[in-house]
Amino acid sequence: MSIFDTPELRAFRQEVREFLEEHLDDRLVQQTRGGLHMERADMARWQAALNRRGWGAPHWPKAFGGTGWSELQRYVFEEESAFADAPLGDVHGLFLAGPMIIAAGSAAQRSRYLPKILAGEEFWCQGFSEPNAGSDLASLKTRAVADGEHWVIDGQKTWLSGGHHADLMFCLARTDPDAKAQAGLSVFILDMRDPGITLQPILTMDEGHSVNAVFLDRVRVPRGNLIGELNQGWTYAKELLARERVNNAQAPRTKRDIVELDRLARTLTDADGRALIEQGWVRRKLAALTADFVALESAALGVIAEQMKGREPGPAASTLKIRGSELQQRVSETAMALLGDAGLVLGPGYGSGLLAPEGRGWAERHFFRRVVTIYAGANEIQKSIIAKAILGM
Ligand SMILES: Cc1cc2nc3c(=O)[nH]c(=O)nc-3n(C[C@H](O)[C@H](O)[C@H](O)COP(=O)(O)OP(=O)(O)OC[C@H]3O[C@@H](n4cnc5c(N)ncnc54)[C@H](O)[C@@H]3O)c2cc1C
Repeated sequence: MSIFDTPELRAFRQEVREFLEEHLDDRLVQQTRGGLHMERADMARWQAALNRRGWGAPHWPKAFGGTGWSELQRYVFEEESAFADAPLGDVHGLFLAGPMIIAAGSAAQRSRYLPKILAGEEFWCQGFSEPNAGSDLASLKTRAVADGEHWVIDGQKTWLSGGHHADLMFCLARTDPDAKAQAGLSVFILDMRDPGITLQPILTMDEGHSVNAVFLDRVRVPRGNLIGELNQGWTYAKELLARERVNNAQAPRTKRDIVELDRLARTLTDADGRALIEQGWVRRKLAALTADFVALESAALGVIAEQMKGREPGPAASTLKIRGSELQQRVSETAMALLGDAGLVLGPGYGSGLLAPEGRGWAERHFFRRVVTIYAGANEIQKSIIAKAILGM
């Protein structure tokens, strides 16, 4: 019997399904299914609907607006959302800034920022990476210098996902140039409308705009916008990146994709009119993907269970990140192989009749997913973390 097969969880699953049926509109479903980068207004609308139901941030502690669900309820919610093609939500506010402010922020920061994340009224972006500080993040050069009641920030950040529709950025900057690289960093909250912030779009190979370069030119930040303690930014950044890696494993969305692959394999035919599922290579691929998914899901549930008890994921996040991201890439590679020509049209063909309906969104997802083994810390770096922190090498 599955651990999900209890009367309570069945009733809960039904409740989630009914909510999704009632509140998810066609535009949101088409955007999610189409692999398109979401518009801010759409993300805001969906987040507001979840929040009205009290489901704005299931993974936050109840005192700050969380649901108090068990880890299995939370997983069921994510699974149902994935299968209904509900949007993922604002990762940077809900999964990164929010938990960091809950863990390290002041009471004033919690009451100022958390309600607006929950309500979908403010969006965040992550200002960590720089042109010469990605894997080697601790070598970053952006400087914050105290000046009366302000910090003055100068530097350049890059690859900001969602920077163009963000209101706020959490920014990692050097506050003590004389300390050892990791020791002299702090995290600040920047208002994206502040003078001195210039954003430049970066287009990715899926033909979408989701990432940006940003230039910080004498940006004045009030003293109260420092998160946590001065020069402790590396500690907060490490915890935040581990949460980001757990989130990036995306097990429920991968499950939905594998079910979709199975459907494609049964629907699409070869030149002789036989369903692709009848071919050995297709069945072998589906079987291998499913087996690897089951392993990922059980590891993800273990980590979520620890998180729900208030424990940080630690280096286990790196194992999830590697397995989850590799699986996502293998899934969309398989979809492209099954679709053949029907998978080749990108965005402009979407909905125009040029593209076979089965192919919708797969090319966009396939190209964009080149990034999943890179962002939140490249997989090679995750292997180094595992070697050091788990294997003691
Ligand atoms: C689409 C996208 C969205 C992103 N969103 C954000 C965001 O919102 N905010 C943010 O701050 N950052 C973001 N990033 C940045 C991301 O975290 C970095 O790209 C990533 O950390 C890798 O850094 P890098 O690009 O500088 O590559 P590099 O660090 O230059 O690495 C290049 C290659 O060398 C390998 N390598 C480097 N060092 C080692 C080593 N020590 N051992 C073994 N191999 C090594 C890497 O694995 C990689 O394959 C995003 C990136 C992309 C592409």
